[in-house]
Amino acid sequence: MFRIGYGYDVHPFAPNRQLWLGGVHIPHHLGLLGHSDADVLLHAICDALLGSLALGDIGKHFPNTDERYRGIASIELLRHSYQLVLDRGYVLGNMDATVVAEAPKVNPHVAAMQAAISAAMPGTASDQISIKATTNEQLGFVGREEGIAAMAVALVVKA
Ligand code: MG
Repeated sequence: MFRIGYGYDVHPFAPNRQLWLGGVHIPHHLGLLGHSDADVLLHAICDALLGSLALGDIGKHFPNTDERYRGIASIELLRHSYQLVLDRGYVLGNMDATVVAEAPKVNPHVAAMQAAISAAMPGTASDQISIKATTNEQLGFVGREEGIAAMAVALVVKA
């Protein structure tokens, strides 16, 4: 009836990259480095969705050695991941995610992220998608502004 999945991801900051978080472009002097648009929040969410049904992880479904996924908008990866959930007869109950970043400020963009994510997941609404943001209190690689981490849990329900 119910299944739960968990996801975690990290990407390093790099110059000359756009910063994408939760399907939203955020103005910042650094972006995240990765094969795709490096949207660390969407990657954690994809892994939570895939994990809920033991479908493996984002690297299995969208290998970073595959040229088809170079520079891809991660919202497309989310769309595909959720379709796999739907194909197996499940729908999202709710998800809860945390972005850990020293900068930029994430909270002003949360409503736009919820809207972007629910738009990529047919039949879902923003209030099923919780996104929280915290800093790492200047500790570790996040605290040194070397990158951003994200965690997500997703509950899916048999339709
Ligand atoms: Mg990733």
